[in-house]
Amino acid sequence: MPELVIRGARIRGAQGIVDVAVDDGVVSEVSPHIGGQAQNEIPAGGRLLAPGFVNIHCHLDKCLTSTWARVWDESRSGAPQAIPGATDIKRGFNETDIVERATRALNSSVLLGTTAVRAFADVDSVGGLLAVKSLLKVRQRFKGIADVQVVAFPQEGIVRDEGTEELLERAVELGADVIGAMPWYEKSHEASKKHLDVTFSLARKYDRDIHALIDDNSDPNSRNIEYLLVKASREGMKGRVAASHCRGGLDSPDEDYARRIYGLAKEAGLTVVENPHVSLFMYGRSDPHPVRRGVTRVKEFLREGVNVAIGQDDMDDPYYPFGRGDMLELAWLMCHAAHLGSLGEMESSFDMVTYNAAKGMRLPKYGVEVGDYADLVLLDAGSVHETLRLQPDRTAVLKRGRLVAETKSRRILYS
Ligand SMILES: [Zn+2]
Repeated sequence: MPELVIRGARIRGAQGIVDVAVDDGVVSEVSPHIGGQAQNEIPAGGRLLAPGFVNIHCHLDKCLTSTWARVWDESRSGAPQAIPGATDIKRGFNETDIVERATRALNSSVLLGTTAVRAFADVDSVGGLLAVKSLLKVRQRFKGIADVQVVAFPQEGIVRDEGTEELLERAVELGADVIGAMPWYEKSHEASKKHLDVTFSLARKYDRDIHALIDDNSDPNSRNIEYLLVKASREGMKGRVAASHCRGGLDSPDEDYARRIYGLAKEAGLTVVENPHVSLFMYGRSDPHPVRRGVTRVKEFLREGVNVAIGQDDMDDPYYPFGRGDMLELAWLMCHAAHLGSLGEMESSFDMVTYNAAKGMRLPKYGVEVGDYADLVLLDAGSVHETLRLQPDRTAVLKRGRLVAETKSRRILYS
């Protein structure tokens, strides 16, 4: 008999209800009925069983600082103004504090069904390697609970922040999984290109994927994504580059430019990451009406066959005062932010916090098929639409077949 059987679950794409067996942390059988009695059984009662949620963009070093109130006031608007405030706050961080906050944020995420997170750690002349070292400890602490990828992220730029190139290399040698980039923040087009040149040369040298925060502004001339994509295709990085935000020129009415980017993105196997919490909260603040929503061209990228994922990005930090690492909440919000209303589009939104994000992080054996890792979440609803609408309990969360979180809330209506 298998070690674990989840009985009577619904799985997307399958007819009726199924039993799912797990052995050695891997899904070993999916069928309408598995006979006998396993060592452990989880009665699913017709609930939806999905692969664990994946948060592909999250600043775990800055999260839960509750310091946003020092940065936001009526006179400030948008990311470029928030960054100096965030830089100040970072000067007060120490390792104990980062590890403790990141742990709390990850605990909250796991309780809400997340089993993999790409965690950004600032690497710059302000904090040096402090954030990377702290998040590498967190990655170790969460082994067997959640997969954590640590991104060495040049939050203050590379060209404009002297010494960062060397620090990035040191961060990768320490064990950072992914090279981050933020070329739009440099002071000139030449410096932005140099920024990406450094990123790609490190990625090639150390065989790492790239996650760039790209064109995170409303400047129609901010078009770094083009250079990113051309380099990804030319330099052997197809399928290994993710790009968050993707606004700048894409947030303008220049359709010719946008069409060119769709083609380049497809060719490069790009994962576009939209962070709807932060986009709706941060952007368009200085617009006269009509106010832009700050969301990238989600529907168009989807239509063109580009992989689109959702990230939390910020969580109770100088950029964004809310967020709890709830990827289901983000998928629900994405339906609003990107006008996804049909059942098929809702399924797409759900894919953005599961399969698409897993593809972006290149997580192996992801899914609910035989041979996949049993990283699973049991949702207290029967379909994707119901799950998005009701935002139900995450009844059980499994990592490699081991129960890592449960929620059993009790509601009583006296009528
Ligand atoms: Zn971010």
